[in-house]
Amino acid sequence: MSDKLDDVKNRVISCTNCSLSKSRTNAVPGNGNKNSDVIFVGEAPGRNEDLKGQPFVGTAGQILSEALAHAGFERENVYITNVVKCRPPDNRQPLTEERTACKPYLSEELEIIKPKIICILGNTAYRSLLDGSEITKNRGKIVKNNGQLYFVTVHPAAVIYNPGLRQVLKDDFVLLAKSLDKLRKGLDIEISP
Ligand code: URA
Ligand code: SF4
Repeated sequence: MSDKLDDVKNRVISCTNCSLSKSRTNAVPGNGNKNSDVIFVGEAPGRNEDLKGQPFVGTAGQILSEALAHAGFERENVYITNVVKCRPPDNRQPLTEERTACKPYLSEELEIIKPKIICILGNTAYRSLLDGSEITKNRGKIVKNNGQLYFVTVHPAAVIYNPGLRQVLKDDFVLLAKSLDKLRKGLDIEISP
């Protein structure tokens, strides 16, 4: 039986549902452990990701890996994906129509993996998943929406322009790891109102 997540990956790789398909080198499907109880959701592939066809393998990826390791996550043991699976030209933010066109793939990934917590990396994922405008109010917090738990933090690429955020991301991931640990043990966690 073919794996449902492989099926999503294969459809992403050959997708032409929006105009980003014309400028990409490779589409970048999500990647990682399909049994993970946490999924990390970024914005869209950058240059290195576009060349390799894998998420978070450039500078932002190094920052993500470092923060994950700091909090005791093994990168191979979690699942990492993006709102939009093809690189927007010049690394501009994805347009609303591109997010809309690509959303069904993310929805499928979430539906198949059914994570305990979805970790939102930055404003684009926040907008797409929680219809929020700006993460500041909920950064470092757990939010519940339609029965699904989300943890909200900064995008690793934001660290490149604002070095002070490196520690914020690391500290947030420690909080996320602690919350996951509690959930696994069936303990209560603090949810942002
Ligand atoms: N930034 C993202 O949002 N996603 C990637 O995969 C790489 C950089
Ligand atoms: Fe398809 Fe998403 Fe790539 Fe657009 S960004 S072509 S919808 S995979």
